[in-house]
Amino acid sequence: MVSAECAPIAKAGGLGDVVHGLSRELASRGEQVEVLLPDYDCLRRDQLACPEQAVSFSVPFEGTSVACQARRCTVDGVTCRLIAADSPARFFCRGRLYGEPDDAARFAFFCRAAVEWMRVSGQWPDLIHCHDWQTGLVPVLLRELGTALGAPRVPVCYTLHNLGYQGQVEADLLDRAGLDAARLIIPQRLLDPAGGSRANLMQGGIVDADFVTTVSPRYAWEVRHTEQGMGLQDLLRQHSNKFAGVLNGIDYQVWDPRVDRHIPVQFGVENLPLKADNRGALRQRLGLGVASKPIVAVVSRLDHQKGVHLVEHGLRFALAQGCQFVLLGTALDPRLDALFRGLAHELAPHPDAHLELGYDETLAHLIYAGADMILIPSLYEPCGLTQMIAMRYGVVPVVRRVGGLADTVFDANYSDQPFERRNGYLFDEPTTVGLEGAFARAIGLWQRFPEYFRQLRLNGMRAEHSWSNAADEYLHIYRRLCAPAPPD
Ligand code: ADP
Repeated sequence: MVSAECAPIAKAGGLGDVVHGLSRELASRGEQVEVLLPDYDCLRRDQLACPEQAVSFSVPFEGTSVACQARRCTVDGVTCRLIAADSPARFFCRGRLYGEPDDAARFAFFCRAAVEWMRVSGQWPDLIHCHDWQTGLVPVLLRELGTALGAPRVPVCYTLHNLGYQGQVEADLLDRAGLDAARLIIPQRLLDPAGGSRANLMQGGIVDADFVTTVSPRYAWEVRHTEQGMGLQDLLRQHSNKFAGVLNGIDYQVWDPRVDRHIPVQFGVENLPLKADNRGALRQRLGLGVASKPIVAVVSRLDHQKGVHLVEHGLRFALAQGCQFVLLGTALDPRLDALFRGLAHELAPHPDAHLELGYDETLAHLIYAGADMILIPSLYEPCGLTQMIAMRYGVVPVVRRVGGLADTVFDANYSDQPFERRNGYLFDEPTTVGLEGAFARAIGLWQRFPEYFRQLRLNGMRAEHSWSNAADEYLHIYRRLCAPAPPD
């Protein structure tokens, strides 16, 4: 795996969970998996074990040679190879994973360093699986420079976790990474379809990878047939014969209310009433009043993608309908950050609402354990892990019917699934009216038909969302890619 994130040491969102969860599942089946990851200064080092010495090597970049070190470590059952760089720009020492003005250069360098490490160590894997725009250059570098580097033919599987971030960059970055921009800035390779002469790193990955996946079947359809392709729909349709949607799983060792060490009282299907103790602990932790009201939660990056105006509306609607509301979120966009800080300030202190702006893994676990409903009004959602995690903790999701949300949430009233599979509420239009329709049904059920609400919780808790199915599908893809080509 080549990735910008791997939970729990470097995680900004679902990408980190997926790389860790899938790698661990594959490793548990006897596959030899290693995750190449930047050695960020902000890694959670308490979660790392690095018994071996770092190995020095150098990486050609921008016409010079950058001294690097690779260290083999283990993270919660997964082997990682951390790549540190003594570059003057201190690429991986910014106190955070993303959001820097030179992110494109930082990750172009990382791709070059990953390929260079495989060359100097002689550790070419049987297959490379890379993820999102940050690593889109890996298959491009292998195709363009592989022969010169003496690389064997290594098939590449490339997973698109979010088409909203494609890595559109000035073309000269390709030259800086050792590629030939003049050759590559053409529509069939890296020329950004949005116009101009910029390079699109995700496009490069799609073109040059041997197989491309995205993280749910529904999103795989949406990105080819609707504007959710964000400009890449034509390209993805052209490459349909090597494209599939594989629904993500969640890591059952991390997200299991029966053994979760982050929550005060463990519970499961067989002793669901114990969830009430966690509800009490959540109220206490966030200063909410004790009341016979359902707790509605949002745990999310606060990004345009997540339907932030609907999150704000949902908060006010929940309070008007007699619910309690908790939000845990982070906004990279300063305007959204200001919006939610303003809201938190306006409400505080409030017996029925608490907004916590920050990233807090432990609080996230407590929220899932204590909440009754989770609101996910995304404008688009490649897969979404929060609805799957929430369901496992007996939380009923209220979500927009889009991407992976549509593949995992089945409406209590309108689904064509049997009752045992119905587990939440869906709405179609990304409007306040759409949201209120589904949300009011969920609240109404909680208030008037608690026994049915309990059944919905149990249906969600029993749903199968482990990595097992996804790992089967990925192994199938890997094996096809690694199979020797049939004779002509
Ligand atoms: P995305 O990858 O688009 O951010 P996902 O639903 O796929 O969304 O994954 C989100 C993951 O990040 C979940 O594990 C969720 O619990 C976690 N998460 C999101 N925001 C926070 C936060 N502020 N604090 C702790 N965990 C968070």
